[in-house]
Amino acid sequence: MKLFFTLLSIVACALSAAAVSPDRFDSALVLTFVNVVDVRSGTVDRNLTVVIKDGRISGIAKVGFIHPGRKIRVVNAAGKYLIPGLWDMHVHSAFLQSAWNENIIYPLYLANGITGIRDMGGDFALLKQRRDRIEKGQLLGPHLVIAGPFLNDSPADQQTLQVHTPDQGRQAVVAFKQQGADFIKILSSIPRDTYFAIADESRKQGIAFVGHLPDSVSVSEASKAGQRSIEHLSGVLLACSSKEEELRRHRQAALARKDFAAFSAAGLEAIRSYNPDKAASLFAELSRNNTWQVPTLVWLRAQANLDDPQMSAALPLKYVPAAVRAEWTPQLLAKDISPDQSSALKKVYARNLQLVADMRKAGVSFLAGSDGPDPYLVPGFSLHDELELLVQAGFTPQQALLAATYNPALFLMKADQYGSVEVGRRGDLVLLEANPLEDIRNTRKIAGVILGGQYLSRTDLDKLLAKVEAAAQAAAPAR
Ligand SMILES: [Zn+2]
Repeated sequence: MKLFFTLLSIVACALSAAAVSPDRFDSALVLTFVNVVDVRSGTVDRNLTVVIKDGRISGIAKVGFIHPGRKIRVVNAAGKYLIPGLWDMHVHSAFLQSAWNENIIYPLYLANGITGIRDMGGDFALLKQRRDRIEKGQLLGPHLVIAGPFLNDSPADQQTLQVHTPDQGRQAVVAFKQQGADFIKILSSIPRDTYFAIADESRKQGIAFVGHLPDSVSVSEASKAGQRSIEHLSGVLLACSSKEEELRRHRQAALARKDFAAFSAAGLEAIRSYNPDKAASLFAELSRNNTWQVPTLVWLRAQANLDDPQMSAALPLKYVPAAVRAEWTPQLLAKDISPDQSSALKKVYARNLQLVADMRKAGVSFLAGSDGPDPYLVPGFSLHDELELLVQAGFTPQQALLAATYNPALFLMKADQYGSVEVGRRGDLVLLEANPLEDIRNTRKIAGVILGGQYLSRTDLDKLLAKVEAAAQAAAPAR
């Protein structure tokens, strides 16, 4: 009875709020008879009523009395499963001169249940502008957290700032924080002393630095220096090798003379000289220091199979801009890759797949990221591939789900807003036809997506996708 009245008062509040709410959203959305998935405990609470009011979850109760009213939308979600909105924690949604314009890429995320993305580098000004428009409701898209331009010791362009000296590194951190970056993104050619200067300045400025591991820095050093996330498992296999230092020198020398065959040979040697004790102490250190891993298995797989014509055959290519589609062929993507290199890449990928399960067991934290729209990675869809690969690697479906829901919220220090279906959290949710804890592929069976309390039904999502398909057919690279 108490619950009955609680819910009644929730609905009453929703009714009174309706008068002042903007037209853009239903002021209250009520999901009835829904099965709520608790991603942290891996359990399901069945037949609940969930009320989302003014963009936030305002009530969850066992029974509910719902007054139909103006601006109250009631969705009968009987038999369906509610999970927190998904986050893709490694994307590039605004590269310069990209055919992936905002009317293509952002609807693809939403249609796939992705209500938040971490953009790991692109046109900074454009990204900030889009982030603001999305939050104001002027552009339909997922929440964006964004890096400043890439920091790398390579020629500058619209999305890369060349940093060669420690001073340049520090100045870049200060400037990008001031200009509104959510974090600092580094790439692999940063010199050692510059890397540590960036780490130090990031700590002083209170901004996270993330990204690739520089070739001259070890995983253990990066973890101690406070790098918050390491992408693509870069440097991890090397760090587990009993010949780490020797192989690092080989790799650096190979890179300096652009000898990619020698570079991949060093990768294979790292696999052969894998040292379980060294690996165990490294994983313990990563866990202790909270150094998150974003393995982007789906990207590693794509990079290892650029020469495979089957790769694009399996993709929903109709959503890929025509100009990009034409480029996703082995002839173009793999033209500089030798058969030896290709075979080495495949072996490293297979080894990395085993590695993530061992790392997770040792307590290392993971985030799901796709690195789309890199070759063969269709935005939105590729995150579901990543979840499947995590399960293939040995994660349970719940652990894979965590990597795309609660863990991103924790990583972003926004667990009070995102990542779980609880009262007070943002109304960013995905309604599924089947239980994702039983089979991770069920995250693809999307019945509806809720973004800030706005309900997008299956019909709405299909309309979005049809528009994307038409736009992809016409899209040419901008500028
Ligand atoms: Zn990337």
